[in-house]
Amino acid sequence: PARSPREVLALLREREVKAVDFRFMDFPGQWKHFTVPAEVLDENSFEDGLGFDGSSIRGWVAINESDMLLMPQPDTLFIDPFCKDVTLAMLCNILDPLTKEDYSRDPRNVARKAVNHMKHTGIADAAMFGPSMEFFVFDDVKFDQTPHSAFYYVDSGEGQWNTGRDERPNLGYKVPYKQGYFPCPPADSLHDLRSEMMLAMMQCGMTVESHHHEKAGGGQCAINVRYDELVPMADNVLKYKYIVKNTARRHNKAATFMPKPLFEDYGSGMHVHVSLWKKKGGDLVNLFYGTDYSNLSELAMYALGGLLKHAPALCAITNPTTNSYKRLVPGYEAPVNLAYSQRNRSAAVRIPVYSSRAKSKRLEYRVPDGTANPYLAFAGMLMAMLDGIRNKTHPGSPLDKDIYDMPAEQLKDVPKAPQTLVEALDALEKDHEFLLQGNVFTEDVIETWIDYKRKAEVAAIRVRPHPYEFALYFDS
Ligand code: GLU
Ligand code: MG
Repeated sequence: PARSPREVLALLREREVKAVDFRFMDFPGQWKHFTVPAEVLDENSFEDGLGFDGSSIRGWVAINESDMLLMPQPDTLFIDPFCKDVTLAMLCNILDPLTKEDYSRDPRNVARKAVNHMKHTGIADAAMFGPSMEFFVFDDVKFDQTPHSAFYYVDSGEGQWNTGRDERPNLGYKVPYKQGYFPCPPADSLHDLRSEMMLAMMQCGMTVESHHHEKAGGGQCAINVRYDELVPMADNVLKYKYIVKNTARRHNKAATFMPKPLFEDYGSGMHVHVSLWKKKGGDLVNLFYGTDYSNLSELAMYALGGLLKHAPALCAITNPTTNSYKRLVPGYEAPVNLAYSQRNRSAAVRIPVYSSRAKSKRLEYRVPDGTANPYLAFAGMLMAMLDGIRNKTHPGSPLDKDIYDMPAEQLKDVPKAPQTLVEALDALEKDHEFLLQGNVFTEDVIETWIDYKRKAEVAAIRVRPHPYEFALYFDS
């Protein structure tokens, strides 16, 4: 809810808050914070902001222009359930202290600009986003570089059982690979942990719809939250990850949104359900509901066309890690072919059929994963959809067969998702005009992103011996 600075200060006294915590995310998408005693916060803090050194934040300003301003946003506050002393957390926008303008590389600013641009085009008044995130919880995390550690699993015949957990001596209730969907405890040993995460999310103001064990062998979870508008939903994604990781940590476990931690089991996606809405009278009406394929409107078909057309470029933002492409392979319900379908989970876009009601008609974009910066990912998706609508980009015909089982002949004309981060970054370099509309993404943001990813990740991985190379080449 919208709150004035004065109301925030009243809340500090009422809840006997001891500390105020300021949150923002760096360029790749990790949450950062710093804390002040509650007394320090006054009405000026909201007007003048709080200074910090932006030069050590990944992807941000150079050392000679390092001072930045954090502007706390009262409508984002929550009491942080993981702090020992009562701590009020608030998300912040970033300002350039010289110009007092929104900092162009602040991802939250890019997201806010995308929403404003959408409104400005007159196409829609609200963009609803419902990401469904999957993640793994591991008992123990070993980062040793031997081929047989938890993360660097080599198929040795033990692969029936999830290698992310201690496998011996009792295999009785361990969930086999790819068979993790919905078992009851004791096989689902993470039930209580997920409930605890769910309750913490609710305490922090999120609306949770359900939680369950996911399809991978022991350890993969999903907690589904209610959709919301683009910016608050992106805020919630960061809150979600924070709560999941901290709850796991309290139980001496480790949670990860890494898209493909285990070879030969399902990966973790962040499927994003989207719809565009327009004010009619006093109500918001879903523009995606209509009489075209699967009760989509013509406008929704064009939005879908835009998503599929720009998917390779979007991948550099929605699937921004080298590990992302280990998930986008056949056989694990992750998209490989850039196609759409009414119910097929192997398509990049699915139109869920259980949503026949006008209000819930939506597209499910299945490509993204949890390593994405949600502000940039949602903004990028919105820009691709607006581009499709403006240019009446038709998505072609649906693929309603199981794409994995289709003969290669039939599939050869279906465009494919990039196979590596290198390909995705190249695609973004070639195709980003649609992101620059309305100055939403700037040329600088795109360049910085590509440059950062190429240097800090692609090149860093390329020069390191991969553990599986030991299996292949040690005895060569
Ligand atoms: N885990 C699968 C993925 O990588 C999706 C499974 C599902 O549809 O829930 O996207
Ligand atoms: Mg799922």
